[in-house]
Amino acid sequence: MRSAALLLLCPLAAALSGRFWHITDLHWDPDYDPAAGAGQMCPSGGSRAGPAGGPWGTYLCDAPWRLLASAVRAMRSLLQRPDFVLWTGDDTPHVPNEKLGEEKVLHIIEKLTSLIRETFPDTKVYAALGNHDFHPKNQFPGKDHRIYSQTAELWRPWLNNASITLFRAGGFYSEKLPGSRTRGRMVVLNTNLYYDQNNETAGEEDPAGQFRWLDETLTNASRADEMVYIVGHVPPGFFEKKRGKAWFRSGFNERYLQMVQKHHRVIAAQFFGHHHTDTFRMFYSDTGSPINVMFLAPGVTPWKTTLPGVKNGANNPGIRVIDYDPDTLQVLDMVTYYLNLTHANLMEEKSPVWEEEYRLTEAFQVPDGSAHSMQTVLERIQHDPYSLQQYYEFNSVSYDLAPCEGSCHIDHVCAIRELDFTRYEECVGTSSSASALVGVWPFFSCLLLGLISLQQAVQ
Ligand SMILES: [Zn+2]
Ligand SMILES: [Zn+2]
Repeated sequence: MRSAALLLLCPLAAALSGRFWHITDLHWDPDYDPAAGAGQMCPSGGSRAGPAGGPWGTYLCDAPWRLLASAVRAMRSLLQRPDFVLWTGDDTPHVPNEKLGEEKVLHIIEKLTSLIRETFPDTKVYAALGNHDFHPKNQFPGKDHRIYSQTAELWRPWLNNASITLFRAGGFYSEKLPGSRTRGRMVVLNTNLYYDQNNETAGEEDPAGQFRWLDETLTNASRADEMVYIVGHVPPGFFEKKRGKAWFRSGFNERYLQMVQKHHRVIAAQFFGHHHTDTFRMFYSDTGSPINVMFLAPGVTPWKTTLPGVKNGANNPGIRVIDYDPDTLQVLDMVTYYLNLTHANLMEEKSPVWEEEYRLTEAFQVPDGSAHSMQTVLERIQHDPYSLQQYYEFNSVSYDLAPCEGSCHIDHVCAIRELDFTRYEECVGTSSSASALVGVWPFFSCLLLGLISLQQAVQ
């Protein structure tokens, strides 16, 4: 609120801030057909039955082309000249490997690359690989591969020569941000190498030497007085919609957290995807001070997850603008825009409007998106039921409006606060026993009252 007011009152402050887009998890389903009957509308929906689909997509399926075109059209009309775009991967539909193949995966990456390039022809795009941008999915090797080199070719207009060489060997790179008014650097990681579904890197200590490279890159950034954004697809820590669901292998998770602790002074923020939900993750020093924050952007695909144990795990399509200070890379604010898919389909063919869902500083009453402010947001979510509910509705991009209480509260708070495997288990354990105690308290009170009155009766 304060920074928004400052930007209004002080044109100089507005002129000094920059803006960029973050989009993720587009998951194009080329075979989406709303005219087909229930259970047949899309290969990405499998045989699940649900409400009829519409022209802009349906919650059971990945995104039709029309939805993706609408998303980038909205991006262009909302902010035509961003400083750059972050695009954090997952381009292909959720279908079995047999329905894809190396050529089809590359074709889909190519189509989405063209869509983004045509929309922002003069803009730098920092693109990361998602676990679905490979064949077979998730199986990223820690060495050169045709998919790495072909994708590097597709992204050549966005990459310098050093980045192309690095990308071909492991799918990651780092570049200085464009423009003279910044001392910023972008580090784009291939964290699919750490995914526990990746059999190619199981047992390796440092796949593709990415950790060693990251350590060096951040050390050099510190020496050069740069500030860094870390960008990737699969995040460390836990999925807030399913208790105990982590993505990284344990050793890789630990090493990532150590890396952030060691270099947090040069990391201004981290931007990831993969969850399809809107949430964030806190990083702490050994003494418990908040030292860093990772923002997870919602997906453009509305696809309802098939992960067992997740209730109603769909979302409305979301896209996000980040306001930042180009000198320090401090996150100043964040605005999430979304398409209410149900409403859009009711309008049928008419081009739907992407509306502002919320502005971070206004919704949570914090001055900016720093680690300190996000710690305040976390504390509000933890202690104030109104803030928790507000966060929860944003989490699915205003799709799931059911009350978040009890275990829902615990799962979200512990996932945001504890990325370490042991500490997460402790958080879930103590929170659950604390809430169980709250639950049984009325029973104990009655029992106590009963005993007292019994005693009185005996006397
Ligand atoms: Zn995804
Ligand atoms: Zn993913």
